[in-house]
Parts: sequence; C-alpha cells; structure tokens
Amino acid sequence: MGAPVRLVLLGVRGSTPAPGPEFVRYGGHTSCVAVALDGQMPSLILDAGTGIRGLTPLLGGRPFSGAIVLGHLHWDHTQGLPFCSAVDNPDARVDLWIPAQGDAEEVLSRGMSPPHFPITPAQLRGTWRFGGLDEGIHEVGGFEVLAREIPHKGGRTFGYRVTDGRSSFAYLSDHCPTNLGPGPSGLGELHAAALELAEGCDLLIHDAQYLDEELAQRANFGHAVAGYAVELAEAASVPSVLLYHHDPPRTDDAIDALVARYEGASVEVEGARQGSVVDLTKPTAA
Ligand SMILES: [Zn+2]
Ligand SMILES: [Zn+2]
Repeated sequence: MGAPVRLVLLGVRGSTPAPGPEFVRYGGHTSCVAVALDGQMPSLILDAGTGIRGLTPLLGGRPFSGAIVLGHLHWDHTQGLPFCSAVDNPDARVDLWIPAQGDAEEVLSRGMSPPHFPITPAQLRGTWRFGGLDEGIHEVGGFEVLAREIPHKGGRTFGYRVTDGRSSFAYLSDHCPTNLGPGPSGLGELHAAALELAEGCDLLIHDAQYLDEELAQRANFGHAVAGYAVELAEAASVPSVLLYHHDPPRTDDAIDALVARYEGASVEVEGARQGSVVDLTKPTAA
C-alpha cells in the first residue's frame, strides 16, 4: 500500500483567465494539473495554462524535474510556461510533450517567439526536451499515460488517461463530442476514444465549459456541456467527475448552481477548484 496518486488542480478555467471577486472560490487560472506519486514532488504536469505558476510554491521554490504534457497548443494551455520559475529555471529538467505534429519545438515556437512573445521555447532556462506523442500508451513522468485523439477545434487535441497501475484518472480538458454526432441524449457522441480514456477510472476531469441549454448557440466553439461530462462518467463507470475548463464568465455562484443540478446523479459531481488536492486512493480493478 503506497501513498496515492495526488493531483493538485493549479488552473481550472477555460479559454482565458478570469480574475475578480466573483471567481475566487473556483479560481481564475487556466488549465494545469500537477500529478505526484507516492508522496513525492509532482513529476507530471498536464497542460501549462496560467495555473502552472502555482507549481513554484507547490515545489517550495525547487526546480521542476519531470514531464509537461500538453493536450493541445491553445493559449489557455501554453501561456503559463514562461511565467513559472520552477520550470524556467537553470536547474529544471523538463520533457515537454505535445500531440505529434511535426517538430514539437518549432510548433510551440509559432505561438512563443517575437513578435508574439519576447523569447522562444529554446530560451527557457534549464534542460528541456521537446517531443511529439503519438496515440497510444507511453511512460511519462513516472506514470503510464494513454493518449487518444479527441474532437475539439483548431488543432490536434488529445485526451489522456493516467495511471500508476493502481489508480487512474482521465483528463479531457477540451472536448467537443457533438462534432461526432448528437449521441444518446443530444449532448454529444459517447465515442470510442472518450470511453476508452475514461473506462473504469477513479476520476474523470472533463470539459464542462457550457451549460446544456447553451449548446445550441455554442456548438461551434469546440467544447462540451456539463451534462455530457456526467453522462460520460456514467457510461464509463467512473464514480466521480470534476467539471473543468469553466467558461471565463462563469462565476463561483454559477458553478455552485451548476454542480447542484447533479445532486441526485449516480456519480459524484463537483466543480474543479483551483488549489484543491485530490488523492486517488481507490485501487483499480486488474
Ligand atoms: Zn482550453
Ligand atoms: Zn482548446
């Protein structure tokens, strides 16, 4: 019985940061989750939105050593990278992975180089390796990571399933299942990749950018509605779902109200909250 897999939610917002008093309880930083194993320092970081700045205090000022895995390259998943002193650090050792699409460093530098930004990825301090992940199972940051391509909008996007062999969670931060059809309830297709990623996990962290009733007018924005996240958890026998990638204008009170809709659901539903720590303690079936 080792210590559990520990997740620290460093950024839970979608699209762009949401500062202000109406957003303090759930938090305004964009996507980033730190994952640690057996009581160690985090060795795997999912996405590098502005939330990755929280990695520096989490590490107590020490440099990061491990892997950063991006689900895709949109601003809200990359723009924290040069502002995190734990990774932009002479003593940092970072393997940065993106969904395979040509030279990873070159692709990343398209959004991070003058005139868009003062420095390039190669100018980040420390020892960096940039690489592309194909679909399939990889050993990354001390974990086994399954990568599957999922529909989003504007660039190759992966969802991930992360396991230490005992516990597992699925991370689908940006997912537009209606691209593949309406699915059983009209909220989006319960397609094979999403089901494979989530099946039997202890926890599902899923895009819930929109309310179900917003789907009609936002169907082209590349995201999921909260009801789909709950439906996927139910279909994949996941006991607990974190609604993630909150719409920037969604206030704390509005997220509370959204979560309250699922009080009677057959799975536990919570709103992902910046700064919260989630320990996966339930062993997965063999
Ligand atoms: Zn996003
Ligand atoms: Zn995106």
